Amino acid sequence: MKEKSLHEDTVVVHTGYDAKSHHGSLTVPLYQTSTFSFETAEQGESRFAGDEAGLIYSRLGNPTVQLLEERMTALEKGKGALAFGSGMAAVSSILVHLTKTGDHILCSRGIYGCTFGLLGMLEEKYNITHDLIQMGTEEEIERAIKPETVCIYVETPINPTMELVDLQAVVNVAKRHGLRVVVDNTFSSPYLQKPITLGVDFVLHSATKYINGHGDVIAGLLIGNDKDEMEEIRVSVQKDYGGIISPFDAWLLLRGIKTLPIRMERHTSNAEKIIAFLKQQPLVEKIYYPFDVDNPQYSIAKKQMRAGGGLISFTMKGGKKGAQKLLNSLSLIKIAVSLGDAETLIQHPATMTHSVVPHDERISMGITDSLLRLSVGLEHADDLIADLNQALKKVEQSLRKENAN
Ligand SMILES: *Cc1c(COP(=O)(O)O)cnc(C)c1O
Repeated sequence: MKEKSLHEDTVVVHTGYDAKSHHGSLTVPLYQTSTFSFETAEQGESRFAGDEAGLIYSRLGNPTVQLLEERMTALEKGKGALAFGSGMAAVSSILVHLTKTGDHILCSRGIYGCTFGLLGMLEEKYNITHDLIQMGTEEEIERAIKPETVCIYVETPINPTMELVDLQAVVNVAKRHGLRVVVDNTFSSPYLQKPITLGVDFVLHSATKYINGHGDVIAGLLIGNDKDEMEEIRVSVQKDYGGIISPFDAWLLLRGIKTLPIRMERHTSNAEKIIAFLKQQPLVEKIYYPFDVDNPQYSIAKKQMRAGGGLISFTMKGGKKGAQKLLNSLSLIKIAVSLGDAETLIQHPATMTHSVVPHDERISMGITDSLLRLSVGLEHADDLIADLNQALKKVEQSLRKENAN
């Protein structure tokens, strides 16, 4: 069968693997090796010269890692991929590749905290500047472009308010001005959103999250729409900066990816049930979810995402105290940052993931003291709802007690 015609659910299980070249091993072997021996001195010479294809040293290529890269290329519908030791290694590598001193990066106004930190460092040390803007319309994006702008860096949905950026609008502007577009697709996973099919140049992931899905690996991935350019990044940036993934972590990711489609379906259906429950709760004020029919950006969500995924943010009555009381009253749902795991996780952005953002800036981003972010896991929805229900009752009691005093 032609691999091109296979469905995504099949691609994540089979693409790129030929058991015949591995003693018939059903699953991909773990090549836990640092280096590869040459048969002769001349073979070593021609591999180093690039005259003969073949493996040299695991920082330059490893069969387990290569299969992961091939599968991710197919999943994101790109032309090439690179695996990294963390999501941040993928972020820093693509920015190093795309920019030089004096350049400018245009960013969506909500970006991952460490990406924000990296942009600050690039500015201070190398005079690579950036602006964070709301990308509501093409005009808004266009107005922010400077002569030095070389790329647009976007996260959508934005953490933790689930604000969306219209990727088609970004691509339209970028094409008009000859800019490259990078999308951090961590929150959606390739199952829900494929930015390269919309004309984006690079997609990156913290594979720590949905791609792996089991909360036991830190890893990153970068997928591009140009095979030669991806090879250039491999030999010019990754080889020398060295942020590679370990073969064992690549092997765990290959295992995780096999269930990505069915996990994303369950994350989404659980999230939908929890939203229906939260909407009935007098203590819950505002719910942020891309596919919520009340979301003013619902039409953008439907245009570029297959479904809403597993992340829900919501605000509640009782401010910071109420939010923390809810966290402390949960038992099945764990208090933790990160997302995309089998376990349902909840965190308080104002005091956790976004605690370094200055207060006024944080509020203007919609991250109030009562906002909570829930990463809905794979447990039975009824058990999660029961846990939320008993915890909300406890919050209600404590608020009532406070009002009585
Ligand atoms: C977690 C995360 C990152 C960073 O990834 P690491 O694997 O922790 O280095 C980048 N972007 C987003 C959106 C994330 O959630």
